Amino acid sequence: MAAATLPDRATLPDRATLPDRADLLDRSDRSDRSGWSGWSGRVPLAALAAALAAPTELEQATRVLAAAGHPPAGLTLGTGDRLLLGVHRALTGRDVTVAAACPACGALGEVELAADALPPPSPVAGPLRPPTYADLAGLPPGERGAAELVRRCSAGQGETDLGHAAPAEPTPPEPAPADLAAVDDSLCGPLVFACPECGEPVRCPVDAQTLALRGLLELLRRYDREVHLLASAYHWDLATIEALPDDRRGRLARHVEAER
Ligand SMILES: [Zn+2]
Repeated sequence: MAAATLPDRATLPDRATLPDRADLLDRSDRSDRSGWSGWSGRVPLAALAAALAAPTELEQATRVLAAAGHPPAGLTLGTGDRLLLGVHRALTGRDVTVAAACPACGALGEVELAADALPPPSPVAGPLRPPTYADLAGLPPGERGAAELVRRCSAGQGETDLGHAAPAEPTPPEPAPADLAAVDDSLCGPLVFACPECGEPVRCPVDAQTLALRGLLELLRRYDREVHLLASAYHWDLATIEALPDDRRGRLARHVEAER
């Protein structure tokens, strides 16, 4: 897989507008994924379905994270995005893949967004801290939302012990929405990778949260189809079917489909 970078950030409908500094490294060192072993063999269909039924993508993300054992409130978006990529891999058995055609030669290139190949989010010093999922909850729309997010992310930043504050210290300027860009660590923005044929840079917009959730939704639709086929053929109750190991449920569903 080509090494790639995510240098900038696009505007998100229900997340903050923040640039990304992460480098997507070659996957030479796949770390231990035992943290996800609880998912192996049988996807918790009911929990996944409930999470993905949330009305907004942000809520879907937080519910998936919570269902996977990662209380999202205190997580930064960068950490959450990496965890969502890990959930995608654990449940679907593959990494989120981004494909784009080379503008120079037309060849199709692919990059895997592997959570365990990404560097961890790196904190940046400044007037704001990186936004967490709790910071994004219930923001008003538009500029008021941006201002409120700045206020929330300013809390606890740059405070000094007033009893010992140096009197000559100038007052720093008030943080502004533009300062959020410096502290965003989420995996969203144009992904740049080298064309596998000619080596020219290929750019395509990427949002790890959107892509991971889309992959989980596709998985859920496939499993819903399997459950429907088994329920129609065997008249088992939902809990019995959902308790089947994933591979067994899939095999039985294919039998049902073949005999239709
Ligand atoms: Zn090319």
